[in-house]
Amino acid sequence: MDIDYQKILTPAGTLAEALSIFSSAGGVGANITAPLKQEAFALIPQLSPHARTAGTLNTLKWDPSTQQWFGENTDGQGFLNYLQKYTSIDIAPARILLLGAGGAARALIDVLEQNLLQPLTVVNRNVEKAQDLKRYPRLELLSYVELNRQINQTTQFDIIINATSSSLHQQLPPLDSAWLKNSIVIDLAYAHGLSTPFMDWAQSHHAKSVDDGLGMLVEQAALSFALWFDNIPDSKPVYQQLRSRE
Ligand code: NDP
Repeated sequence: MDIDYQKILTPAGTLAEALSIFSSAGGVGANITAPLKQEAFALIPQLSPHARTAGTLNTLKWDPSTQQWFGENTDGQGFLNYLQKYTSIDIAPARILLLGAGGAARALIDVLEQNLLQPLTVVNRNVEKAQDLKRYPRLELLSYVELNRQINQTTQFDIIINATSSSLHQQLPPLDSAWLKNSIVIDLAYAHGLSTPFMDWAQSHHAKSVDDGLGMLVEQAALSFALWFDNIPDSKPVYQQLRSRE
């Protein structure tokens, strides 16, 4: 297929202008990434049910009939497809700790809330920014101080998902390392064959297993592709090819 798909560096606060230039130049589809997912959600009038309930989006498709962008979120389902295709993890009975409350975290929260038997625990650096997550009645929202105080008082988490952008800045979230022991750790960041700082940290504190965000990256992209071209691609060979290049 003859597709022109490129990165456009768009500073926060300038997405509306960037999208207008892009559509005028013939752009018909786009992915939105950190830190613009929530900014995109606030701008786009036509939204899929997924994007609407998550309050964030990562995929845009130009609708020629309305001359407007349509917003979808493929991150949450992409994450579930990653778990199903590339791991043996059964999330339904798992006790899960999710770090972060930005665009990616919110997409995951939306699907996890529908698929977990146990309440989901979410921790964010700035808890005030995440207050609206209390709309999920079973969700437990904590600050890192509150969470770290509970170490040794409550059972460990089966799975810890790092949905913060800390790895992109070579930082670690202020999580007590004792939480990591024996947990399955997934960092949504992808480090092109290298471990992210969070993965290295988890490994050195006896996590049960660590993985990066490549599987989710491929799966959310496959779902974006399906929206644009009405054709779901065979994603597993893409994943295998990218892994083999590392
Ligand atoms: P956002 O900018 O929307 O959100 C960033 C989040 O990270 C906020 O919750 C912020 O907390 C938190 N954060 C940033 N730095 C730190 C830190 N040092 N310590 C603790 N918390 C921190 O980003 P996105 O949600 O779009 O992306 C998050 C991550 O997910 C990125 O690494 C991105 O690459 C990855 N991602 C991967 C995908 C994949 O397909 N594999 C898809 C989408 C995202 P606060 O609110 O307190 O500032």
